[in-house]
Amino acid sequence: MKVISEIKEINRTLSTLKSSNKTIGLVPTMGALHQGHISLIEKSIAENDISIASIFVNPTQFDKQEDLVNYPNTIENDIKLLKNSGCDIVFTPNANEIYNDNITSQNFMFDGLEHEMEGKQRVGHFDGVGTIVKKLFEIIQPHNAYFGEKDFQQLQIIKKLVELENLNINIIGCPIYREKDGLAMSSRNIRLSESQRSEAPFIYKTLKKAQDKSTNISFEEIYTWVNNEFKNHPSLKLEYFEIAEEKTLKTAKSKFANKKYRAFIAVFADNIRLIDNISF
Ligand code: AMP
Repeated sequence: MKVISEIKEINRTLSTLKSSNKTIGLVPTMGALHQGHISLIEKSIAENDISIASIFVNPTQFDKQEDLVNYPNTIENDIKLLKNSGCDIVFTPNANEIYNDNITSQNFMFDGLEHEMEGKQRVGHFDGVGTIVKKLFEIIQPHNAYFGEKDFQQLQIIKKLVELENLNINIIGCPIYREKDGLAMSSRNIRLSESQRSEAPFIYKTLKKAQDKSTNISFEEIYTWVNNEFKNHPSLKLEYFEIAEEKTLKTAKSKFANKKYRAFIAVFADNIRLIDNISF
């Protein structure tokens, strides 16, 4: 596996590969890799001639400086995991390489997708995501790019980015990879204390119960039930619980038979923010 940090060098490597008609799969990440990320790489390996993972902790997508500073860095282990997975290239640029001293985001309009849920809570977050993903797409020009449903709103926004920018890249959504107890794998999980870690599966358990209930009771009743569950579980602070239509991500108050819905949740364990979602 090649580890490349300069754009010039990745351009050189890619031009040779592209001239021999190799298909290229890209998995953008911010490192601190876990099996969830590896499941994306494995899908890319199965579907492309060459698979590239990028590792870049993108400063412009953090709404809180504290979160950026505390973002885990496990680069040696990341490289080991990627090598063992069969990944061909890991692209590890620094901020200067990507932003040339101008660490700012482009402003995007994603048909309103950016104003829902995470967009309300994390101002500027999706401008940062759009900026880095667009830059990575320009550099790598992959045929296929893989994103996790763990960040379902981000996945929908990237699909919209490709549509608006008219890019010839397939965006492939991959299922949420979970720990045995149901907790969605996340780079932030390693920041949880032992007791927070033992509490955290409550998030998925609640989503799962809400999913079961969605066949019998109204969305309004589910909102009330979930809010009460978290009131009775004060070690986890509910930031939002929303049931939304999958395509528009608009909050759904009631169900229509021809639409797909998903429940989204953001919870704080002290200052560690965890998100998850489930299809209804
Ligand atoms: P991140 O490093 O957190 O920016 O994540 C990089 C990619 O991995 C994103 O497309 C995420 O949605 C995806 N991802 C993160 N955690 C998981 C998970 N538990 N299951 C599936 N995909 C994930």
